[in-house]
Amino acid sequence: MKKTQVIIVGAGPTGVMLAHLLGQKNISVILIEKEADIFPVTRATHLDAETLRNLQMTGLINELKEYTQSITYFDVVDKDGKTLFEQALANQDTVHHYKDDCFFDQVYFEKILRKGLARYSNVELIVGAEAIDMIASGAEVKIGLKTSKEGGITEVTGDWLIGCDGGRSFVRETMFPKMRELKPPKDWILVDTALNNAEDARLLPDRFRYYLSDERLTAYAHGFGLNRRWEFELNEGETMPEEAVIKSWVEKFIDLNKISFLRIKKYTHLSLVTPKWQENNVFLAGDAAHLMPPFAGQGLCSGVRDAVNLAWKLSDVIQNKAKTDLLNSYDTERQVQIKHTFNQTHSLMQILLADTKVQKWRRKTQLQSIQLLPPKLKAFLQKSFSNPKSLTIGCVAITSKLCGQHLPQFVMAENRLSDDEMSYKWALIYAPSIFAKEGVSLDIENIHLIPSADIWEEWLKANKIDFAFIRPDKIIFGAGKIHNWKSVYEEYRKWEISN
Ligand SMILES: Cc1cc2nc3c(=O)[nH]c(=O)nc-3n(C[C@H](O)[C@H](O)[C@H](O)COP(=O)(O)OP(=O)(O)OC[C@H]3O[C@@H](n4cnc5c(N)ncnc54)[C@H](O)[C@@H]3O)c2cc1C
Repeated sequence: MKKTQVIIVGAGPTGVMLAHLLGQKNISVILIEKEADIFPVTRATHLDAETLRNLQMTGLINELKEYTQSITYFDVVDKDGKTLFEQALANQDTVHHYKDDCFFDQVYFEKILRKGLARYSNVELIVGAEAIDMIASGAEVKIGLKTSKEGGITEVTGDWLIGCDGGRSFVRETMFPKMRELKPPKDWILVDTALNNAEDARLLPDRFRYYLSDERLTAYAHGFGLNRRWEFELNEGETMPEEAVIKSWVEKFIDLNKISFLRIKKYTHLSLVTPKWQENNVFLAGDAAHLMPPFAGQGLCSGVRDAVNLAWKLSDVIQNKAKTDLLNSYDTERQVQIKHTFNQTHSLMQILLADTKVQKWRRKTQLQSIQLLPPKLKAFLQKSFSNPKSLTIGCVAITSKLCGQHLPQFVMAENRLSDDEMSYKWALIYAPSIFAKEGVSLDIENIHLIPSADIWEEWLKANKIDFAFIRPDKIIFGAGKIHNWKSVYEEYRKWEISN
């Protein structure tokens, strides 16, 4: 039997991201994956700028970026090909350093991320082992494994367990309440293809597009490299059509000789969320905790957000740098943020899905009206629509300035990125002359102290603040003028983060 501090069940994007972050914190991790190999066809196609920034925390962003390509536009066209709505997704005004939403190849991402785990001697990945049994006593968790390897490990014990085992999560089914259904399920047909020749790329749009036709809503994603995807809505009562019929739908967009079909699959859009993200020493993250229709392309992005939110809290508690209360803030914070993400997704669905003639007329009119909004207002709406809300609850000094917002990421000397310099740790950016003048000494453990200069000095000045306390996930815990320091520091001490 193997023993570890943290067991992670499921080596999808969420589980692997958590393993990286806990690995960096010197926590011993066993990551269990039932499949022997990575699923060979990409599932997610879209990543947002914040997720790229979060993935940067693995130290592998340069390799990952090789498998991304910026999404120029998202648009909606009517049955005659007339554009009803168009939104640029490149060159956006974000604080994350990355400016574009992008298409990416999930298969290569997973390969790079899994391979990167070899850098941590404290992280062990066991593939071909399915968690089939679980006893959680409160003090420790025992997982029974069905392994495909003769003589393989059949049991692991850990102090903590994170269920990252996807939509049909065994961990969730074993010890969490039923998920809440936020919208009824809806069937779609998913068609993944690859262009046979790169030169034929010009035959299809370079973007993410919805086609409105009388028969069904159709989504098209350019995808990374040669990948091209169509998703066809199934109408009420419609069953899975013959493959030839589905191929004839694709033929309306491209000559079938120019593509190879990778998979054709019925896929049910679900809107489900767990009412609880933690039960004693067991957590849920990623699709195990939330399943959303892919309208806003946020499933994987949200799983990565879960990982970035949870890993530092868990490692601070394990390493006795924080009270276990800190872990409650994972549930509190992610509940609020995921609600916003579901709202984004559902509002897009509400605009785009239409069955009756009246609904279709409403859809067209609504899209055209949004398109006619003044560009500044449209940009403002896009920003407030896409950004996860600032935290106003959880591990933040609620009354202080900028609290709960993302710290901007800057390019520093020698083209280094500021998040890389700060790493996945607590940091305090402060104006040294002001702290010295007021006689405030900063004798704080476990915090990366950053006396402001150059870009940080400008940023503090622009925000009329003398300091900013930054969480490892780059969320501002609290900030303010020197006279606010004591109260923000006291708030921080409540979590006993540095005892
Ligand atoms: C068609 C489609 C389009 C999508 N588009 C987007 C998009 O554009 N953008 C986006 O952000 N998201 C998108 N998503 C969602 C995204 O793919 C998922 O949210 C993401 O893969 C979830 O990652 P995860 O690690 O939480 O779960 P998963 O990727 O499901 O990984 C779970 C892992 O756990 C393993 N496992 C399960 N049970 C056990 C067990 N008992 N023991 C051991 N291992 C186990 C599984 O084998 C799997 O490897 C899309 C999804 C689909 C299907």
